[in-house]
Amino acid sequence: MIEQTYPVVWDLDRFFEGGSNSPSLRSHLDKVKEKLGSFETRLKDFDSPTSIADVSNIEKMVNELKDIATNLSEGGAVIGCFLAQDTTDKQAALLQGEVGSLYAKFSSQMLTIQQVLSKTKETVWEELLQTTELSPFAFVLNEWRDEAKRMLSEKEEDMITTLGVDGYHSWGQLYDLLVGDIRIKLTIDGVQKEMSVGQANNLSSHEDATIRKESFEALEAAWTDKEEFFAKTLNHIAGFRLAIYEKRGWDSVLEEPLHINRMKEETLNAMWGAISKNKAPFVEYLNKKSAMLGEKQMHWYDLDAPVSTSTEKMDYQQGAEFILKHFKEFGPKLESFSRNAFEKGWIEAEDRPNKRPGGFCTGMPVSEESRIFMTYSGSMSNVSTLAHELGHAFHSYALRPVHWMNRQYAMGVAETASTFAEMIVADAAVKEAKTDDEKIALLEDKIQRSVAFFMNIHARFLFETRFYEERKNGIVSAARLNELMELAQQEAYGDALDTTHPHFWASKLHFYITEVPFYNFPYTFGYLFSLSIYAKAISEGANFEEKYIALLQDTAVMSVEDLAMKHLNEDITQEAFWIKGIDLCIQDVSEFIQLTNAKG
Ligand SMILES: [Zn+2]
Repeated sequence: MIEQTYPVVWDLDRFFEGGSNSPSLRSHLDKVKEKLGSFETRLKDFDSPTSIADVSNIEKMVNELKDIATNLSEGGAVIGCFLAQDTTDKQAALLQGEVGSLYAKFSSQMLTIQQVLSKTKETVWEELLQTTELSPFAFVLNEWRDEAKRMLSEKEEDMITTLGVDGYHSWGQLYDLLVGDIRIKLTIDGVQKEMSVGQANNLSSHEDATIRKESFEALEAAWTDKEEFFAKTLNHIAGFRLAIYEKRGWDSVLEEPLHINRMKEETLNAMWGAISKNKAPFVEYLNKKSAMLGEKQMHWYDLDAPVSTSTEKMDYQQGAEFILKHFKEFGPKLESFSRNAFEKGWIEAEDRPNKRPGGFCTGMPVSEESRIFMTYSGSMSNVSTLAHELGHAFHSYALRPVHWMNRQYAMGVAETASTFAEMIVADAAVKEAKTDDEKIALLEDKIQRSVAFFMNIHARFLFETRFYEERKNGIVSAARLNELMELAQQEAYGDALDTTHPHFWASKLHFYITEVPFYNFPYTFGYLFSLSIYAKAISEGANFEEKYIALLQDTAVMSVEDLAMKHLNEDITQEAFWIKGIDLCIQDVSEFIQLTNAKG
């Protein structure tokens, strides 16, 4: 067999030659700026449609929006790649700032359009949406209009946006500043070290139990020391949000996040209901793990501890072939698409200095290509990450025939294709493991994900809903925040924890993100939703691929309930649907317990 050699460095010249100093990138951005400017001028004459004769105006506007948005994304995506591959690229950082302000301008133009459209008379609106030009965008256009209607007047919303810069988003930025200022002092191997919060957090998976415990305690002490600052920050972010909700007449704090995720409250309740009723196997896993670590009950600081020292390695070429081989079992298109991505330099995988950590996939909508970023060092979890990002790229590929208007999918479904692809590879790795130790390590990796989504994220959700309820009546003290967090963790972890992490509310950035509310349940939704698609794919074989692609193409044009009904014939407002996905995860636990018991 001839060994295929795939490039490990991505090709960005394909878009703009010459890196962050590229003249073609410069002129691209200038052109986008010009377009935004002239669109702004024309927007001043854009009035609410009064008759069906206005259809061409709206169609023209939609296409202009598409043109600006795709060109803006193209430039922004490539600049993001420049920065990721070299965090010291100052020119790229400057360009990123520039693109940021272009984005801000674009979103305010979008808001204006929504407001204008919302003033259309109902009868005219209905007529317009039935035209051949606009009917394909009916879902999104209706959503725009509904959003505008649920808001206050244009003037009031404008005031909120303006005041939010200093009165709201700045609290989120202050949080970053506070965390960045914290230094954790730890002695490791006899050497005194001063670390950032991120570095100390990384010790949670250290093989030495003492280091895990000491770093956790040092972190808790640091959060305790600054708890008043964090409590104040969190209270004001929530207070600002609640005040706006009240003015808009929104009673439930879940109204906005559910709307963003195009999801019904019943669906959310069914999902958490099914999870709550199925904690027992995961509690059993946690008990087993703590016993393996020589403890009576699970400590928070042992949750990420490694239980197996097995470290099977695969070089990049082997990893790529492994992914392609298993993708093929699920469908020829996923395989050929991914092969092309490997061959054509869509992936940046090299292990070298100055790259940013983590992985991502970004789309270039004008060129209709994607780029994947990661640092590949040969672990099985690298192979999973690579498959995950290829899944994202495949989602974009599936959406190619779809108009830009109908591609804006929400967070909950955003992780569908990626988790699906990751599952294929993670499952295959378990099946092909050469030793029991290796199998245990791979299974644990899978179970850890379930624990994160069913327990950790659940705790965040329980905490956040309860905190917001109490915040309606006034400031919630740091002591009460600790209490709420401990209660939420005990409940979400099925009382399996010996020690909790009371200051988790201070340590987790997600509670301080002002752009998106409730940055938690969509993770769990995406995971379980894609698991049920995966279960269907297993039972239907490679024939499932066309159905899968059709589902991906509909991810941004209907509610999640309609999406599941249309493509999976499932009612996701019922717990029974969610239990099917959870059952797959329970199988991993059974296998893990069996293997570890056999080892004694
Ligand atoms: Zn992802």
